[in-house]
Amino acid sequence: MNDVCICLFAAPNFDKSAQGLAGAGRRLAAELDGQLLAVIVGAGADALAAEVARIADTVTLADQAELAEYQPETCLNALAQLCGERSPRAVLLANDTYSQEIAPRLAYRLGGSAVGDGVEVRVEGEALRVVRQVYGGKAQAVIELKRTPAVVWLRARSFAPAAERAESGEITRAALDIQADTRTRIVERKREAGGEARLEEARVIVSGGRGIGGPEPFESELKPLAELLGAQMAASRAACDAGWVPPTWQVGQTGKKVTPELYLGIAITGASQHMAGISEAKVIAAINTDPDAPIFKHSRFGIVEDYRKVVPLLREKLAALQR
Ligand SMILES: Cc1cc2nc3c(=O)[nH]c(=O)nc-3n(C[C@H](O)[C@H](O)[C@H](O)COP(=O)(O)OP(=O)(O)OC[C@H]3O[C@@H](n4cnc5c(N)ncnc54)[C@H](O)[C@@H]3O)c2cc1C
Repeated sequence: MNDVCICLFAAPNFDKSAQGLAGAGRRLAAELDGQLLAVIVGAGADALAAEVARIADTVTLADQAELAEYQPETCLNALAQLCGERSPRAVLLANDTYSQEIAPRLAYRLGGSAVGDGVEVRVEGEALRVVRQVYGGKAQAVIELKRTPAVVWLRARSFAPAAERAESGEITRAALDIQADTRTRIVERKREAGGEARLEEARVIVSGGRGIGGPEPFESELKPLAELLGAQMAASRAACDAGWVPPTWQVGQTGKKVTPELYLGIAITGASQHMAGISEAKVIAAINTDPDAPIFKHSRFGIVEDYRKVVPLLREKLAALQR
């Protein structure tokens, strides 16, 4: 009853998100004096299971045919069975779209309580509390989950990974009795821009706002800078909404939450909704013509200048350093 169950979807590798989720689970299980149980749903997850077993006490792999591709109803049925059998105190998921979609429904099926977007999860006395950011990262809310299990999706990438244990946990394969549930089905899948690494995993991000002025300077000015920095490109909602760059580049409250070492915001005001997506960035740097732009309040480095003057100089310097 004091165990913690982490739910993962099959993936080819143990990425930063899965590592953070396992780390959060391991620490919470220690606080509760329980075990860390992992369940993985989907096909082709043997390598992931082996990695997770270095951290968790047990790993259950549900890779039967009905679960080969993600369908929300069927996955929900599987997770409800897997978690229900184990009666954990807490069920933790990451912040991928599948997990966000399933978490509240899973809580309902298990008779528990749900909260999303947690940046901290801890035990205080008998209570299980989750911290989440509110007002675009300006304040924190502490939420106590009264019904068990507490089902929480976390900003997994911002949690530290756990140390590997001396002995790997046991890996078992589940044989679930699940019917393919067709009430809602995903009928088509489209890949985000081919070949690009995930923005959420990027170490360096060059991001542009409305002040960039159009799609062309994203190509001619920001892209070469990003290439020199080995960075991925992102944008504010204003730039995405204008159709200058793909909507998948949007960072912020209604976009992606990123955790880079360096976030370079160019011609972005730094509205609270934008800052909500970069509050976990290690270093924020900004270029903006307006000295009062709010982004400067959050920036370690800032240049008050027209980006069209600064970016070519930056590129020149970086190119010289690489010669
Ligand atoms: C419910 C809700 C959710 C939202 N979610 C998001 C979200 O997820 N992500 C997001 O980004 N926004 C979000 N927004 C929108 C947000 O409030 C801002 O409107 C948006 O972030 C502004 O984008 P911007 O800074 O690029 O544009 P602007 O506010 O127009 O700012 C442009 C900046 O560029 C500067 N500039 C202009 N020319 C130059 C130049 N030549 N060189 C240098 N600087 C220059 C200006 O000084 C200005 O600071 C949301 C809003 C709402 C209401």
